[in-house]
Amino acid sequence: MIELSNITKVYSTKNGELKAVDGVSLEIQKGEIYGIIGYSGAGKSTMIRLLNGLEKPTSGTVVVNGQNISAISGSKLRAARQKISMIFQHFNLLWSRTVEENIEFPLEIAGVPKAERSKRVGELIELVGLAGRGKAYPSQLSGGQKQRVGIARALANNPEVLLCDEATSALDPETTDSILELLLDINKRLGLTIVLITHEMHVIRKVCHRVAVMEAGKVVESGDVLHVFQNPQAQITKKFVSQVSGTSDTKESIEQILANYPSGKLVKVTFIGQQTEQPIISQIIQQYGVDVNIVHGTISHTTSGPYGTLIVHIDGDESKVDIALQILKRHEIQTEVIEHA
Ligand code: ADP
Repeated sequence: MIELSNITKVYSTKNGELKAVDGVSLEIQKGEIYGIIGYSGAGKSTMIRLLNGLEKPTSGTVVVNGQNISAISGSKLRAARQKISMIFQHFNLLWSRTVEENIEFPLEIAGVPKAERSKRVGELIELVGLAGRGKAYPSQLSGGQKQRVGIARALANNPEVLLCDEATSALDPETTDSILELLLDINKRLGLTIVLITHEMHVIRKVCHRVAVMEAGKVVESGDVLHVFQNPQAQITKKFVSQVSGTSDTKESIEQILANYPSGKLVKVTFIGQQTEQPIISQIIQQYGVDVNIVHGTISHTTSGPYGTLIVHIDGDESKVDIALQILKRHEIQTEVIEHA
C-alpha cells in the first residue's frame, strides 16, 4: 500500500546541510494502523510531508497506492493527494464556517453536486458522532468535537490513506481515548489505512498494529506493537515503552527497590497475550514454597492483545527460587533478574 525505499531528505540551512530523514525504508500494508513515534526533531513531520507529496525526497522513492508520489507533480499529484487525507494537531478548521460547511469544503473543491454533498455530509456527521452539531461553529465545540470535524472532513472524498499529525496531542487524556477509539472504529469499518505520528507511546499502544521508532532521522526499530513492547531493543524504545508500562528502569529506582530486598531475587516479568490470564505466579508460590511479593505491576491492552510487566521479589530457599525462575521461563514468560548496578 505504502512503500518508502531508502528515503533521505536533506535541508540546506544556514548552518549547513541537515539530514531530516536518513535512509528510511518501510512498508505499510493496506488496512493497517501504522505508528511512527519519536521525540521532537526526529523527522516525523518530514516523513508525513513526504507521504502526501508536500516534500520531495532528496533520494529514494515514495510509493502510495501504486503511485510514485515522489516522481509526479501538477494535476497528477493533486489527483493522487485526493486519496491521501490528513488530520492535524490543531484541527485546521475554517472558523467562519459551520461544522457542516467545514465537512462540505473538500467536496465543493472536488466539484461534487450540492444534493450529493448534503447527503454525504449527513452521513459523515453520523459516522463521527456529531449528530445535532452540524450548524455549530468550531468556536462552540470542545477540542474532541473539533477533531471529529477534522476527521469527517478528511474522510469526505473517500481517501485510501489517512495521515494523522499528532492528532491527539492537544487533547486531554479522556478525549484522546475517545478520538483514538473513533480512529479504530473507522479503520475497522472502512478498512482505511492510517499512518500516525506521535511522541506518545500510549497512542501507539491503543491503536497501532505496527510501529516504527525514529531517532535523528533514522528508523531505529520497527515491528508489531506487541513484539516491540515485549522486546524493545534500542534505548529510546525502552524509554518509550516505560512511558506506558510504568516500570521506569532508571538506575536510581531499581537501586532503591533492591535496597529493600537484601535477600532473594528481584525479577522483571513480562507477559504477553494469553499468559496474562494464567495464574502462574500463584502456582509457583503453591508448588515450590517460595515467597513472591509483587513490587510493581501493570497490564496494558494493545490492538493485538494484553501486555503486562510485573516486578516481583522471589524469596526462599535458593534452589527453589531458581526452580521457580525456570518454571516461568518454561511458560515462555520473559524474565530478567535485576541486579545491583
Ligand atoms: P519531528 O516532526 O519529529 O519533530 P521534523 O521532521 O519536523 O521532526 O524535523 C526533523 C529535523 O529537520 C529537525 O532538525 C528540523 O529542524 C529540520 N527541518 C524540518 N523541516 C525543515 C525545513 N523546512 N528546513 C530546514 N530544516 C528543517
